[in-house]
Amino acid sequence: LLTMGVSITGAAQEALYKDQKRPIAERVELLLKEMTLEEKVGQMNQLNGFWDVTGPAPKEGTAELKYRQLERGLVGSMLTVRGVEQVRAVQKIAVEKTRLKIPLIIGFDVIHGYKTISPIPLAEAASWDLQAIKNSARVAALEASAAGINWTFAPNVDVTREPRWGRIMEGAGEDPYLNSKVAVARVQGFQGESSEDLKSPHTIAATLKHFAAYGFAEAGKEYNLVEISNATLHNIVLPPFKAAVEAGARSVMNSFNVINGIPATASTYLQRDLLKEEWGFKGMVVSDYASIRELIAHGYAKDEQDAALKAVEAGSDMDMESYLYVEHLADLVREGKVQESLVDDAVRRILTLKFELGLMDNPYLYLDEEREKKITGSKENREAVLDVAKKSIVLLKNEKGILPLKKKGQKIALIGSLAADKNSPLGSWRIASDDNTAVSVLEGMQAYKGNSLVYSKGADVSVGAVSFTTEVKINTTDRSGFDEAINAAKESDVVVMVLGEHGFQSGEGRSRTDLGLPGLQQELLEKVFAVNPNVVLVLNNGRPLTIPWAAEHVPAIVEAWHLGTESGNAIAQVLYGDYNPSGKLPVSFPRNVGQVPIYYNELSTGRYTNTDGLVFWSHYIDSEKTPQYVFGHGLSYTSFSYSNLWTEKSLYGMGEKITVRVEVANTGERKGVETVQLYIHDKHASIVRPLKELKGFKQVALAPGESKVVEFVLSEKELGFYNNNGDYIVEPGAFTIMVGGSSNHSLEKLITLEK
Ligand code: BGC
Repeated sequence: LLTMGVSITGAAQEALYKDQKRPIAERVELLLKEMTLEEKVGQMNQLNGFWDVTGPAPKEGTAELKYRQLERGLVGSMLTVRGVEQVRAVQKIAVEKTRLKIPLIIGFDVIHGYKTISPIPLAEAASWDLQAIKNSARVAALEASAAGINWTFAPNVDVTREPRWGRIMEGAGEDPYLNSKVAVARVQGFQGESSEDLKSPHTIAATLKHFAAYGFAEAGKEYNLVEISNATLHNIVLPPFKAAVEAGARSVMNSFNVINGIPATASTYLQRDLLKEEWGFKGMVVSDYASIRELIAHGYAKDEQDAALKAVEAGSDMDMESYLYVEHLADLVREGKVQESLVDDAVRRILTLKFELGLMDNPYLYLDEEREKKITGSKENREAVLDVAKKSIVLLKNEKGILPLKKKGQKIALIGSLAADKNSPLGSWRIASDDNTAVSVLEGMQAYKGNSLVYSKGADVSVGAVSFTTEVKINTTDRSGFDEAINAAKESDVVVMVLGEHGFQSGEGRSRTDLGLPGLQQELLEKVFAVNPNVVLVLNNGRPLTIPWAAEHVPAIVEAWHLGTESGNAIAQVLYGDYNPSGKLPVSFPRNVGQVPIYYNELSTGRYTNTDGLVFWSHYIDSEKTPQYVFGHGLSYTSFSYSNLWTEKSLYGMGEKITVRVEVANTGERKGVETVQLYIHDKHASIVRPLKELKGFKQVALAPGESKVVEFVLSEKELGFYNNNGDYIVEPGAFTIMVGGSSNHSLEKLITLEK
């Protein structure tokens, strides 16, 4: 390079990429040119930070190896580095000891909060309140970013129909439309709304995971293979990824599973052809934890070199904890087995994110002890997670007018070890928060002083210590607390029983085959009910449970999931009617495990009623075929009615917008919020379409006696579908439009789309 007769040396070029006035793309190219092959490959290496970086340099084992890589500039990112001090220490090594001084991106599983914990993601999806969900992601970003984190491995956008799968708690349930909306809200909460927001020290980059179809692991067994049709892949699994990519999500994590014979980590179709080419994704793809090394165990790569080669060719840009890129990629390039342009493409994406996050201009941008102290656990943050926690609660059943509880003059027995538990409500995947920091139901209810409240454990759910990394041992023998609980129930007007799963019974590696109340809880419930049937069952769980007995006998059932830091306050406010429940199920609740998978957007079996009235059925001989609680179900302390479903006409031309209106009235005695849901059914198509597909929802607040007209607009975006080639098509024909307060809709109307 010659400018005005002066040759620009390496040092001067370094200054060029540091020039903040230049566009990021240009700065990335300038920096890339400075880098050796080893340094480039180093950027593609991500390490887990499990040693104390502030202490002396480790002298042996993996820690030493990692430390040396860090010092030599062979690390692009670290994950799970805990706390400001540790982050500062690793960053210092990267920017002071390495030749090019490129800062690290610090990744962390900020799944539902950092220190202040939000409801588990599945619960939040039950709020259907996108603003509340966005606010909750925002709180997580604020707290995590102050602690030095600039990249979260969230949101999980895995659509799943598998309540047996423990990671159902991390996503937004079974529906692609709801998952898409929630994914976008979360991305915006983490990253801010525009790409410019990313360089603020208060936002963090989001990761869409797991790409793809991890939620379809056969039989709900963790890490199991996935066999999936093209139609299901494109219409059910991929839409949330695509929607969130369009909303600007900066990274995508691939998944552990094999999909139709190919490990997702090595899928060129998914990562290169679809994500990067067709969708135009400019961010980076990070592998899942050691998933590149797993290519060998899967039987897809013959050795380490082969695994690195296959993953990089497929478009996995960063290697999380397999160390295979750092060990083999440079050789593979030198041997001519991997094109250097593939390495460049990956490094370009990684560096772009570093520039976008503002790290290249200030490596310590995200480290702010003062802000950390000020905002972590702040009143505003707690209010935001309380708000979404209340909205996440779903009233499944309410008979005999038992809820809301009267505020005075009642004797209430509160039963179940989960009622006093301050740890379990934090749920799984909250690795930065301190243990036992949730408000328990007991504490939440104690704040209401007008009643007499007696707490009795009844039975522990689990025995021994329970943590993220240990299995939960369920109590199946210790009934020593039964008598006390039964006596308390006898002497009370109302019994509130908090039963369900421990917070660590869901999450990664927590598949279950039995979805009933674990351990002795069902027995306890039935014994308590026998002496006092005025039972309010509050469920704590990370997945749909099968509760056929309770659904039949217990007068009130409140789905309270794992609601995070403010759990007990949210539950108490709902039980006492200070918050009128508004949540709706984001996933079907089966009656029994034999029904699984059971989901609302199923295809017709083809069975029908003939002209003689003979019904050709498809059913089970030992169970109802319907779920216990349908997708979209959720009651309120008031009631809503639907009328006047309206479209301007019944015949539309292709491409025309269809305006749908419906009148919703509050017919009860309290103000409340209703989530109005719109579904469609494409009655005949070149690929059989589901009987119902959610295509719109709106929340409407109504005072008693008030009614409002709610409007939806349908366009080709809602009316079409992906065919078996993955092409989006809209076909003429008849569509049923259905509207109601759940997937058991109230009103329907037929329209036709003409060529
Ligand atoms: C999980 C990912 C997670 C990663 C890092 C993996 O086991 O599948 O979701 O982000 O670990 O903790």
